[in-house]
This record gives sequence, structure tokens and C-alpha cells, in this order.
Amino acid sequence: MKKAVLASGNAHKVHEIGIILRDFDITLETMKDAGFEGDIEENGTTFEENSLIKAEAVMRAIGAEVTLADDSGLEVDALNGAPGVYSARYAGEGCNYEDNNDKLLEALTDVPYEKRTATFVTVITYLTASGEKIVARGEVKGHIGFERKGGNGFGYDPLFIVDDMDKTYAEMNDEEKSSLSHRAEALKILKLELAKR
Ligand code: IMP
Repeated sequence: MKKAVLASGNAHKVHEIGIILRDFDITLETMKDAGFEGDIEENGTTFEENSLIKAEAVMRAIGAEVTLADDSGLEVDALNGAPGVYSARYAGEGCNYEDNNDKLLEALTDVPYEKRTATFVTVITYLTASGEKIVARGEVKGHIGFERKGGNGFGYDPLFIVDDMDKTYAEMNDEEKSSLSHRAEALKILKLELAKR
């Protein structure tokens, strides 16, 4: 069984990735448990760049056999793809999830439902000490609601209504979100790539 260090300090992501990779031949350790305490500056302009920046920073510091990094964000069509790579700090430095959701609702005031289309994106980077690299992108299409719905999940979950499901991520339990989310899609692609090697 391979041991992978997860380049994320976000407990929600760690939890979801743990559920999605449960049946997989990898034991996960968070970067904190592996002894990485620092902050990683995500100054890339794409999810792919930021995901690689995180994976490389942790690999450099810890020298793990495998490092996994997740960079995610929400692209809203009516906002020309914003908040995108700035999803974590959409409402400014030091903001929290509530501030970001408030700002998103405000930015979409007067935008009708059919124009509130959005894509949730996750890019997972799998990096090994020997230099092997797999980059996997998962996407889920949805709409931004007019108000928060549901109490589960984190971040933009209460506002992101998954197309075909007619409910927000926050109205799903962990198992349901982890069966169909953008993060699950990216990890599914990673599993397929690993199975080919
Ligand atoms: P990052 O990948 O850590 O840069 O995360 C960007 C931001 O996107 C997070 O702070 C959350 O606000 C949001 N985010 C990432 N993944 C999810 C998700 O699965 N649901 C809701 N919000 C998310």
C-alpha cells in the first residue's frame, strides 16, 4: 500500500478525499501530520499551476513517496469565470466562507436563474519522489442559487445547485457529495490513470 501526503490544510477536503479514496490502495497522511507546518503561496493563474505548486512545496519539504494536492474553485459564467482561482479569498484577505457566499450573492443580484450557470473545478496533482506526475481535472456543472440551502459541506456548497440533482452540495450528505462531486470526478480520473501504469 502506498502512503501519500496530502498537500492541504483544509479539513473538509481531507475528509472528502479520504472518503473517495477509501477503496483505493493508498493511505493518506495530512501534510500537518507529516510535519509540514508552513504556508504555501498559491500564486499561479490556473488550478493546474496552483495544484502543482502545492504538491511540489510539500514534496520538497517532506520528501514523501507520493504527494497529492487539490486545488479547487468555482467558475461563474455571468462573472466571466470569477471567483476561479481566487475562490478562497474572493471577499478579500482574511475572509471566511460566509463572506465569500455573501459577495457571490451580491455579485449575482438581478441575474436570472438561467444565467446563473457555474462550474465547480478540482485539479488533483499526484507527484512521486521519482518524478512521476499525474494531473487530473474534475468538473461539475450547476447553478448558483438565490439563497443558501443545506447545512452540510463547506465553502460555496450551500449556493451550488448541481444540475440534474436539483439540490445544493450542502443538501447532500458526505457520501452523496463524494459520489458525484468535482473532487470525486478528478480522483476517478487519477485512479484510471494509475491503473494504466
Ligand atoms: P483551494 O483549493 O484551497 O484554493 O480552495 C478554494 C476555495 O474554493 C475554498 O476556500 C472554498 O471556498 C472553495 N471550495 C473548494 N472546494 C470546495 C467544495 O468542494 N465545495 C465548496 N467550496 C469549495
